[in-house]
Amino acid sequence: MNALWVAPVMPDYDSARATFSWRRERSRLAGLPDGGINIGYETVDRHLREGHGERVALRCVGRDGSLQTMTFAQLAAASSRFAHVLEALGLERGERVFTLLGRRFELYSTVLGTLRAGRVLCPLFTAFGPEPVALRMELGNARALVTTRELYERKVAPVRSRLPHLRHVLLLDPGADPPPDTLSFPALTDAAPDEYTVGSTDPAEPALLHFTSGTTGTPKGAVHVHEAVLAHHVTAAYALDLHEGDVFWCTADPGWVTGMSYGIIAPLTHGVTTVVDEGDFAPARWYGILADQRVTVWYTAPTALRMLMRAVPRDGKPTPAAWHDLSALRFVASVGEPLSPEAVHWGREALGRAVHDTWWQTETGAIMIANFAADPVRPGAMGRPLPGVEAAVVACGEDGRAAVTGGHVQILQEPGAQGELALQAGWPSMFRGYLHEPHRYEACFADGWCLTGDLVSRDADGWYWFVGRADDVIESAGHLIGPFEVESALMEHPAVAEAGVVGRPDPLAGAIVKAFVLPRPEYPPDTELRRDVLAFARRRLGPAVAPREIEFVESLPHTHCGMVMRRLLRARELGLPEGDVSTLETPGPAETTGHSGKEP
Ligand code: ATP
Ligand code: MG
Repeated sequence: MNALWVAPVMPDYDSARATFSWRRERSRLAGLPDGGINIGYETVDRHLREGHGERVALRCVGRDGSLQTMTFAQLAAASSRFAHVLEALGLERGERVFTLLGRRFELYSTVLGTLRAGRVLCPLFTAFGPEPVALRMELGNARALVTTRELYERKVAPVRSRLPHLRHVLLLDPGADPPPDTLSFPALTDAAPDEYTVGSTDPAEPALLHFTSGTTGTPKGAVHVHEAVLAHHVTAAYALDLHEGDVFWCTADPGWVTGMSYGIIAPLTHGVTTVVDEGDFAPARWYGILADQRVTVWYTAPTALRMLMRAVPRDGKPTPAAWHDLSALRFVASVGEPLSPEAVHWGREALGRAVHDTWWQTETGAIMIANFAADPVRPGAMGRPLPGVEAAVVACGEDGRAAVTGGHVQILQEPGAQGELALQAGWPSMFRGYLHEPHRYEACFADGWCLTGDLVSRDADGWYWFVGRADDVIESAGHLIGPFEVESALMEHPAVAEAGVVGRPDPLAGAIVKAFVLPRPEYPPDTELRRDVLAFARRRLGPAVAPREIEFVESLPHTHCGMVMRRLLRARELGLPEGDVSTLETPGPAETTGHSGKEP
């Protein structure tokens, strides 16, 4: 398992932090001749200008295992054609192009063509049904949509009459008798010129619209600007340790922010080869891709790792590494939800690499906190803030959110103190608004800090530990309990496959901790197992934090990104309305990309 040793991009955290400046980092970008910044330009044009057009940008593994590649020059040509199409269709700068596409070449040319042309891109998740698709296109005022005929007929045609602003629907495969009011993507792009000059782009011009996952409420539309690319580029180097010549695989679905920031933009700005998997998650397929494509840097999600963990014997012998040659793999990272220490250890054993947790969210646009390549991983910790990112733990009020008094917040310095994670406003990929919700946006900021809605603590060495989402945290008999900590402990019990933990109101304690537990198939969910799991949790967590109640379930509700939807468990437990469930995972034919990798 000897991946060639490569010096980490950031060999020393402290000195990198001490000397970092976003202004200086900007020289890593090519920049437009007039001083502007355009994401599309950084991803393709610059490589052509620097003489690297023949490098392989994308290596696409088809569902049948076939392999196709696209060079930067081909990507530049394909995205140029799409940029011309948008202009010919009369889309104005700033107007929004939506995609409802899986991982395939046309997704890349559409995204990059849109960005190069100064139009705004909003990706949709292909497993959404017609309602969530319509809702997001209405909110986002979609002017154009690129999708397949099959997805259009199933998900858009039924709601098209609600979308009067949607002027152009471009189908990749219109067929001989195309549906009414649609255009042919191949016909239009084939006829368009394959060179396009990126126009002047203000770094603060909107580039992307991303809807959040809706784990704790209605999805919000976060607006990102072109200068975000500086953060995509820099964080891919510092947090993902991306080097020239790497083969990078990000498993996140392109419908979410990870699939965009790190599945498309960041690796292309670095000129490395990106693996694009058209297929769905299957353990053998994934190990095969890691091995056959000689993936060097892998960015995935805890859900996917858990599925891989379940797919091999628990004792790790024989490990998949014994069946597949993973010797090229140098760096593995994960995002989207807490990464349990168990998954970090499993990575070491099965992949030969510890898994590096990273933390960020749709609103931050790029990785903010990470375990870095040069440091030993701290299992269970999210990591330390990137150079250029100032983080803090802010004291919370009674509502469990950061307390803002007279416009000020109180920063907790003491190691171990719990509070809301705040980031000093101003990093390049910070979101610049929630669509149609200016007040909600303003409420995210206080005293120069961006309040993230996540509760954390920081240890004496500066590592951040995830406690829970402010909306999820349980206050029981005066203790603040993060459901993740309880779930992690439960999952260390051999009989527990997965757990979801919520607070149930209690007249005495305020709330008591209740766990919904999915047992492994070989363990019958009986009273004896319940007693055993409860006792195990009490030993691990102590009586104040351990669940008081355990209910065995046959499945747990997840978002498409694989996070347990605790608010739904809570609503069901209390008999309350379920609220917005548009991002609830509904396994269906060919829709279970499963490995969306959350996405933030
Ligand atoms: P909504 O804001 O609509 O409820 P969401 O927060 O799930 O949805 P995302 O922006 O996709 O939407 O997810 C970001 C969130 O995911 C973070 O705020 C955090 O709660 C969680 N998360 C991401 N990475 C990690 C991590 N490494 N450890 C723990 N939690 C994480
Ligand atoms: Mg959120």
